[in-house]
This record gives sequence, structure tokens and C-alpha cells, in this order.
Amino acid sequence: MTTATKPVRVRYAPSPTGDFHVGGARTALFDYLFARHHGGKFILRVEDTDQKRYNPEALKQLLEGLRYLELDWDEGPEVGGDYGPYVQTERLDIYQKYCQQLIDTGHAYRCFCSPERLTAVRQERQKKKLSGGYDRYCRNINPGEAAERVAQGESHTIRLKLPLEGEITVHDAIRGKITFQNTQLEDAILMKSDGIPTYHLAVVIDDYLMKISHVFRGDEWVNSLPLHIYLYQAFGWEPPVIAHLPLILNPTGKGKMSKREGRAPDGTVLPVFVRTFQELGYLPEAMVNYLALLGWSYDDKTEMMTRSELIERFSLERVNAAPANWNYDKLNHLNGQYIRQLSAEDLTDRLLPYLAAAGVKIERDKMLRITPLIQERIETLGDTATKFKFFFVDELPDYDSSELIPKNGDVAMGLAVLQRAGQTLSVVEFTQAKLEIALRADADSLGIKAGQMFQPIRMAVCGQKAAPPLFETLEVLDRETCLKRVRQAIAKLQPPQH
Ligand code: GLU
Repeated sequence: MTTATKPVRVRYAPSPTGDFHVGGARTALFDYLFARHHGGKFILRVEDTDQKRYNPEALKQLLEGLRYLELDWDEGPEVGGDYGPYVQTERLDIYQKYCQQLIDTGHAYRCFCSPERLTAVRQERQKKKLSGGYDRYCRNINPGEAAERVAQGESHTIRLKLPLEGEITVHDAIRGKITFQNTQLEDAILMKSDGIPTYHLAVVIDDYLMKISHVFRGDEWVNSLPLHIYLYQAFGWEPPVIAHLPLILNPTGKGKMSKREGRAPDGTVLPVFVRTFQELGYLPEAMVNYLALLGWSYDDKTEMMTRSELIERFSLERVNAAPANWNYDKLNHLNGQYIRQLSAEDLTDRLLPYLAAAGVKIERDKMLRITPLIQERIETLGDTATKFKFFFVDELPDYDSSELIPKNGDVAMGLAVLQRAGQTLSVVEFTQAKLEIALRADADSLGIKAGQMFQPIRMAVCGQKAAPPLFETLEVLDRETCLKRVRQAIAKLQPPQH
């Protein structure tokens, strides 16, 4: 392949029209991994020629999303580069020039059809089950007449003149050869009446001028491939290597992954936007690892891979043409594993902003003591404030007082446990080892099992059954908080007598 000798330059070319979806992030990641693997350049280009749908907020979100995933681009908005501008609406004169070239060489023509006529033609053709939406009405207007009509200010678009018969076989680096019948193709619009190019024209010109060696893009563009190849031919340019990435399916395996966020039956959000994953507390390393496995694999077993391993191992040959299923459980599992690998210091520093966002005020030093207790028990950073509320609140949320009654015991036993615990907790040295010895001795002297002793205490101080090991938890919560909560539990179990 001649292109193999060219320097590797890969671009991610999003159209910022809405929220940054993980499908786009997967494309950006494959671009990035491929570029880094080959020591090439990763370029970001903003495709904003659809001005009606363009949204500046979406661009901001996109840049933030790429930064969160640490997909740093070598050229593009905010960093510049030798092939700029990297925003298509800043390149309009370039497209004009090249489009004129296509007209001059007879590869494109001006179309003066009104939108009303085009709509009517499209409907008519659909009814007759004819391919394409345009009947090529203006294709044979002679250039002299066309130039005159333009001079008179008549509104028009510019269309690509495609062969009317025969077929074209294109090569996709993942899917292989694909053949299209020319009769199925439409003389696509290259330039709209307002002088703004369509995606097709701009993408081909930019990929060429920016010396892009490899194009990876969403599967939805595969039918545009013949059109793009004809454009390259019309310009006399060699096309880059082009590959369409496998579709991402819903977790059920049925249908494309949703474009919008839904909710699971239990009410939890099912994120699809990069910012939501970030807000929920997915680590960038877990996201990158997970997204890399959506359509690519290293072998049939390796799942956890660092960024540098992914860069080293990534290859187009191992990108699968078959669709990939999105799997929240797998992502959550990976995220949990990455969380467990962090040092307590690192995890604490990552947790603090999430706690602050949840309204929790806590000193870093205090959090450093809590972190090891929860590290094994969270799947996302955002879990912490809700799952382990009792570490962060003054007053526990209400809970059912029957939970204070020991297994195979009664209210009297629950009260005895809590009263004894109250006495012990007010005098014992507040370290996990001393707490354990003292509370076990209490169980013995009350003549009950250790579990019957600990359950009411855990419930009293945590307000919930799911909690880290008891003695560490007591130690971190400190004497004052534990005593207060035990007293409140006693009151809960023994309503005031009149
Ligand atoms: N702007 C197109 C998109 O957002 C890019 C497609 C391509 O990479 O060529 O999907």
C-alpha cells in the first residue's frame, strides 16, 4: 500500500451539534491510539458547515470530553498547527476555490432547482421507488447559460456529476471491498446556495490538504464512501486509507446504542454522553480501556490495559467489523478495578471534587482515613456520597428501628447491646483493635453471640446494613459521633415513657 510510507496523520472530525456521545469518543480514541501507535499525529477538526445544527455549547463539551479522556490532540482548535484553520467555517474560501475547479473540469455543475421543485421530485421518485432524490434536471445546462444565470444572481447549488451507469468498488480497511452500483448514487450537492460546502466536499478537501493518511469514522458514513472516492478521482488526488468502525449496539444487542440517555428500571441513569460518565465518576483510564474494547481486542482474554499498553498493542487488523454491544456491567466492573488500583492519596484527591459536588464538606485528612474503607466498595467516584452517607452527615437519615434488634433476639436484647456499647464506647481507647477486644468481651458478658452484639451497633452508627468493617468504621467516625448515634438508637428502640 503506497499510503503506508506516508507519515501517519489521523483526524477526528466531529460536527458539534449536540452532546458528546460515547460513540464519538470511541472514534476519537481509535484515531488517537492509531496515531500514537505509529508515532503519527492526532488532529482535531471541527466540521461546522451545518450551521443550522451547529451549537457552540456542544463544541465546548466536546473539548472538555476529550480532555477528560486525556485524548490530547497535536493539531486543531486551541493548539493550532501547520494545516489550519481547523474549523471548517474558517476555510470557506478554500472550498470555493476547489469547487470552482470541479466546475471548470466538468466534474460538477450548477443546479438551479428550487427547494419546492426538489421536494416534489423527491416525493415523486419515492413513490415510483426510484433511487436517489434528484432527477439531474440541471445536469445538462450548458456552462455558458449557467454562467449567465449566476451573473443574474439566480440562486443555485453545485452538484457532483457522477457516472450514470456501471459500478464502483471501494476498499474499506476494516470491511474490505464494497461494490456500489452507480445507478444507486445521487449527484450530491457539494456547495449549498449560501456558499457553504456540504460535508462531502469539505471532508475530502480537508483530508487532502491536511495530509490525512487514515480516516476512521462512524459506520453511518459507509454509503458516502463511493461519493468521496469519486470526488478524489475528480480532483486527481489519492484517497487516504478509509475505515468505518463497527456499530455500537444497545446492551440488549438489539438496535443501535441510544443517542439519548434513558433510565434503568430502578431509576438509575443509563449514560451515553461523555460528560455524564465524567459526572458519575468513571475514571478516564477505565473509560479509555472500556472504549478501546468496543470493536477492538488484543487477544481473546486480556481486558485491563493501561493507556501505554493500548497504544503499543492497537492495530487495525484486530478491529472487528461486527457490531459491538455496549455493556454497563463490564464498564462498572472495570471502573471498580481501576478504583482499587489507586493509592489512597490519589483516590482521595479524585473523590474530593465529587464529594464537594454532592454538598459534602470534609477535610482531606479525614477523607484519607475513610478512603481505604470504601475503596473496595465503590464502582464509581460518585457512588461514595450516596452509598456511605453516614461518614459525611451529622444526622443519619431515618431507618427502621426493627433493624436494631439482633438476629434471634428481641427489643430487650437490642437495648442491652446498645446500652452496654454506649458505656464501652465512652471509655475504651478509640482504636479498631481496642474496640474489637472490648466489644467482643461485652458480647461474652451479655451471653450473646458476637454477631448479635455487632449488628445493632452497626445499624446505630451507620443507619444501614451495608457498611465497611465495623471497628475501622467506628474508629474513623470517632467517639463523639458514635456515642451520639448509639444514644439516638436507644431512644428509637425505647420510645419515651410517660
Ligand atoms: N463530521 C462527521 C461526523 O461528525 C465526520 C465524519 C468523518 O469522520 O468523515 O460524523
